[in-house]
Amino acid sequence: MTLLAERSQRRFYDNWEFLPEEKRRILMRENLDQYIRFAADSLPFYRDRLASYESSASAPLKNVPVLTSADLRDILPPVSDRLVAGGVKDYTVFQSGGTTGVPKTTLFSHAELERLNLPNARGFFALGLNENDRVGNLFAVGGLYMTFIHINRMLQQYGCMNFPFSNHTPVDFVHTVVKLFNVNCLTGIASVVMNCLRGMSEIGMEGIKIEKILYGGEHLYEADKREIRERYGAKVIAAPGYGTVDTWYLGYQCLDCPTGVFHAHDDEVYLEVVNEETGELCDKGEVGMLYATTFPRRITPIVRYRVGDRTKWVNEPCGCGRTTPLFKLLGRGDDVLRIGYDSVDYAAIQEFVLQFEGLSGTIQMEKVRDQGKDRLIIRIETRLSPEQRSIVAQKLEETLLEVRPSLRDFVKKGTTWPVRFELVDLNTLPRNPRTGKLMRVIDAIGDA
Ligand SMILES: [Zn+2]
Repeated sequence: MTLLAERSQRRFYDNWEFLPEEKRRILMRENLDQYIRFAADSLPFYRDRLASYESSASAPLKNVPVLTSADLRDILPPVSDRLVAGGVKDYTVFQSGGTTGVPKTTLFSHAELERLNLPNARGFFALGLNENDRVGNLFAVGGLYMTFIHINRMLQQYGCMNFPFSNHTPVDFVHTVVKLFNVNCLTGIASVVMNCLRGMSEIGMEGIKIEKILYGGEHLYEADKREIRERYGAKVIAAPGYGTVDTWYLGYQCLDCPTGVFHAHDDEVYLEVVNEETGELCDKGEVGMLYATTFPRRITPIVRYRVGDRTKWVNEPCGCGRTTPLFKLLGRGDDVLRIGYDSVDYAAIQEFVLQFEGLSGTIQMEKVRDQGKDRLIIRIETRLSPEQRSIVAQKLEETLLEVRPSLRDFVKKGTTWPVRFELVDLNTLPRNPRTGKLMRVIDAIGDA
């Protein structure tokens, strides 16, 4: 069955996607009320925090404290059980970023993992996945990574042909299997899929037709999409899911969504776009910080989590007919850069650089996209002489990869470019002309 035939037979995955807005809003507020009660009743941690919840206010969570990534580290195992409701122990532990030493974790009960099938499948359906598709799953597995596992589960439940390659299968074997079984769809982290396509095309694309690239984890920018369309003939290149392992699936793309725009799963999550200077909710079109409250997360309730992405609600309704609202992601709003699928945070880089003599704490990190791959550039102001700088820069590059095995693996596999350190004169890094603040972190997305 063709993509179009499938869509015309059944336009949406479930009823929620086309409920009238008023009806959806009522149900969403009921979900929120119920979830807040559950969190306050289940955990002493939330009892005081949620006392300021105002059920009938237009911004009901406005006075509720924000939950941050650093908070989660302190209240989740292995550090503490404060966020674990009812002393539950039968959960799966996933890693949610973190670098060396103690991993930052996120816990999902097995029922919650099953619940992920709904938003996951909704996204794949919206991009035209059908029962005739043969899907190669290239998502990351091992090391307590989460995505491969639940994509695999979702594909089984969805009912199409499933090839669990993961990110570890050598490209020549992927090539052989893709050709033998007419695999027509690849799903995975964007840069892994790009790498795989490039590797396969070096072997030869005769008899291979990849029609659908359903990526996640990072954006595929227009230049990357053009390459995939022109060189490999893919027709659908889009992201079926946007979410974080600390929260849930927050959004999904349909065939009408441009890069960075997503429909909200607003039956699963309560999303706020907040102006952090005023504390008010942003109007449509106004850029703010995305916060998520995730109804299906029960063993570790997540209320008002600061996701860390700058976001705005999109004014216009979507051409696809779905009434789930649209939001646009505008890059990381905090001090974290996603390099491949390692999250490099500014504070960790500061701490790392501190160990070296002669370097200032005036540091800027920038993510650039080069030929479809991420590169991390770290610029540091210094008084060192030019001769000393090149020696120290090389030492920094080597040592950083030693202490960040996750990044090292991606560099070694060619998924991301090697990190580059640039040591520059004092007072030469760009400052914000208005505030004089150092521009500490620059993301690759600039299409706000
Ligand atoms: Zn749409």
